[in-house]
Parts: sequence; structure tokens; C-alpha cells
Amino acid sequence: MAAKTVNDIVALCKRRGFIFTGSEIYGGLGGAYDYGPYGVELMKNIRDAWWNAMIYSRDDIEGLDAALITNRLMWKYSGHEAGFSDPLVECKKCGARMRQDKMKDQSKCDNCGSTEITEPRAYQLMMGLSIGATADGAINAYLRPETATTTYTNFKNVLDAKPHKLPFGIAQIGKAFRNEISPRGFVFRMREFEQAEMQYFVNPADDEAFHKMWMDERLAWWINVLGIPAEKLRFAPHEKLAHYAKAAVDIEYEFPDGFDEVEGIHNRQDFDLGSHTKGQKELEINANVIENKDSITKLAFSDPQTGKTFVPYVIETAMGINRAMLAVMIEAYNEEDLGDGKSRTVLKLKPALAPVKAAVIPLARNIPELLNISNEIVRDLRRLGIGRIELENSGNIGKNYRRHDEIGTPVCITVDHQTIEDNTVTLRHRDTMAQERVPITQIKEKLLEIVK
Ligand code: ATP
Repeated sequence: MAAKTVNDIVALCKRRGFIFTGSEIYGGLGGAYDYGPYGVELMKNIRDAWWNAMIYSRDDIEGLDAALITNRLMWKYSGHEAGFSDPLVECKKCGARMRQDKMKDQSKCDNCGSTEITEPRAYQLMMGLSIGATADGAINAYLRPETATTTYTNFKNVLDAKPHKLPFGIAQIGKAFRNEISPRGFVFRMREFEQAEMQYFVNPADDEAFHKMWMDERLAWWINVLGIPAEKLRFAPHEKLAHYAKAAVDIEYEFPDGFDEVEGIHNRQDFDLGSHTKGQKELEINANVIENKDSITKLAFSDPQTGKTFVPYVIETAMGINRAMLAVMIEAYNEEDLGDGKSRTVLKLKPALAPVKAAVIPLARNIPELLNISNEIVRDLRRLGIGRIELENSGNIGKNYRRHDEIGTPVCITVDHQTIEDNTVTLRHRDTMAQERVPITQIKEKLLEIVK
């Protein structure tokens, strides 16, 4: 059973330190959230799982970490400055501002139901910056609204440093900023969020096959690595394609309120490299690009076999890490009836994603023998380098188990008086609550088996 409402997750996130409201002590700031002790771990584990699949498991994709503050020209030629906007409407009665394409009923205000709605106007989503000592504070740079563009502009840098044949890819994880009209759904739609995007450069003749390949690869990752059941995921092709796209398909997850986008897999043709390259006229660019008078670099591929220079097509995979974490938490959330009026909340996360890998708990507080053994076990487990191992020295075993169930810790290791006599501990498993007695010497092996 997954969470029935996103509010279950909001409450758990606050209570157990996954996610807090941004700028909370000053009344908050719409669309901004702060990640707490366990949220940072879960985010990191999702990031690592993606990096593992995209970079460490392959030979054909390189990593990149580009600046978040970017030259304005980048967004002129990418088309964002003129066209990265949402349709904004206002209710004449209550003043609510809404994104027209996301309204429940476009003829009625989402807030008060009035039918007096303004005509839509294009609302620029990029956050402008005034950097350096400008006299008037005018916008002269932008915070990036996606990672992809800085990947395209580094195409030649990466290829020169690490030669590749086609197809090859460049992947980035990092923050993106969008001045969303109405942030909503907790961390579903924020103004500052994190993306994991990969741009795969292919021979134009192979674009459709690689688009299909990446759709399959990414769906399998959501199922096998994040642990989302296949029936809660679906492909949703875009009904209306952007002018540069040849095909665009979203992976949607079934949130408690219905299916919504978590990742996009798009065939962007030669639009992006074609938009940012110098010497556009010498290259046969298929997409409709504006004339670039400012680029100083040719972004094209020279085929050593045919001697032909051309602009590769791009297959993009674009995922939001915050949305992935939200989906993972919703799916892992369980409220279990334990009988006798008792219940527990447990996050049945894949152990590899769990914020804490194991908790070591001396049965009673501040008993030197128990504490010494516990500390030794903790030290030993930390050397495995598998993530957080926590020592719980509060002496309240029931409370400790409940807390670790709620944050998804796969195993608790309890050290008691019998440990002093026979060097065994109790392993208590999160999902089944089953307990087994094992020698201290076997804990490492068992834990590695669980979190692998
Ligand atoms: P939407 O239609 O929901 O506005 P999009 O199609 O503009 O999203 P992309 O530009 O394709 O989104 O971004 C890729 C991924 O980044 C999305 O699938 C989503 O997971 C994530 N993402 C986009 N916007 C936000 C946001 N405001 N807050 C959190 N995650 C986001």
C-alpha cells in the first residue's frame, strides 16, 4: 500500500527531517524547500543511482557539471528568452493568478469559481540576474532553467577532451530555476529544483531507434532501481510537439491525485547544437533555428570514415530528482495495522536508497559494556563506505524501531546483555519485523547482502 495522499508524506517529511518549508522562520517562500538530514541522504542516493546507471555502467556517456549562472546569449539562442513562458491568467474577482494550461476548468477560477478570467499572457519563466557592478541593476544573466543547454554549449569541450564515436552522451545533475506561476504539490512543482539530464548525440539516421532504446532503459530504471511498480508508470506521448521536437514522450507516475510527469524522453533533432553553433550556413541544419551571430565555436561532428561534418541529433532524457524522491516516498509509505490497536508507519524503500543503512542500538542507555561493543560495531560498519550508520543511545528500543521504520532503515542491530556473553546481536528487519540472532562477525556480510 502506498501513501493515500501527498499530505501523509508532507507530515512525515517534516516530522522525521526529510524536507522543511524554505525560509520557514520568516513565513516561507513559495516554491522553495530545504532538505533535512534524511532528505539529503535520499536525494544523494537517487542521484548516485542515476549516475551509476548513466555513467559508471557504460562507456558512452561522460559527466559534466556546468555553472548555474549563465551568459544571457545562451538563452537568446536556445529560444528560452523569447519563448520559455507559460500562459498566465488572472481572476478578476479574487485576483488569483493561474497557469491556464494547468487549470481544472479553463473557464473558471481554480480559487473562487468566478468565470471572470483575463486573457492569457506569456509569462517568462527564467529568473534574471544582475551580476557585477551594473549601474541600473538590469538583467544581464540568467539562472539556468534546465541543465541541457549548458551541456550543448560544452559539446566540443567534452569531445575534444574525450574523443567518442557516435552515439555518445553527456550527463549532468544540478539545480535549475523556474519562476513557476503556481508552485504546487509540495516538491512536485518548485521554483528551485534539481534535474538529472542526459543528452545522447546520434547519427540522424538512427534517431528513432535510440529514442525507443532510451524510453525502455529509463522505464526499466524507474522500476528496477527506484522500485516503482510497473503498473504505476506509463508513457504519455506529447499531444502537441514543440517546433524543434520530432517526438516527445513523458514517463508518468500515478501520484495519489492521478498520473503526472516525472521524466521526459525527447527527440530534439539537431535543434540545440544547430542553434548554438557558429557557421550554421555550412551545416545542413534540419530544425528551424535562429541565425547565430555570436557563437565562436562549431558544434558539429566530423565522421573520420566519410569525412563528412554534420550536426548530430539529440535524444534527451530529463528527470527531476525532487519529483523522483516524492514518487519513491509515496510508493514506499505504508501504514500497517499490528493488531491490539497498534499500528506502525514504515517506509519500505529499496535498501540501496535508504537514508540510513543500519542503526546500532544498545538495549539500555549508558551501560559502558554495551556502548563499547556498539561503538565498535558502528566503526566497523562505517568502514564499509555504504552510507550512514547511526548509533542510538537513548535506551528506548521501541521508539528507536519506530523512528527507523519511518525513515526506512533496513536493519536495526541491537546489542544486549547476551552480546557480552556470546558476541551475538539481534538483527531486526524493517519490512517483516523478523528478528534473528547473529554473531557480530557476520553483521558486515549480512548488511552488504541487504543493501547491495
Ligand atoms: P512541466 O510540464 O511539469 O512543467 P516540463 O515538461 O517543463 O515540466 P522538463 O523541462 O522536461 O519539464 O523538465 C524535466 C523534468 O524536470 C520534469 O520531468 C520534472 O521531473 C522536473 N521538473 C520540471 N519542472 C519542475 C519544477 N518546477 N519543480 C520540480 N521538478 C520539475
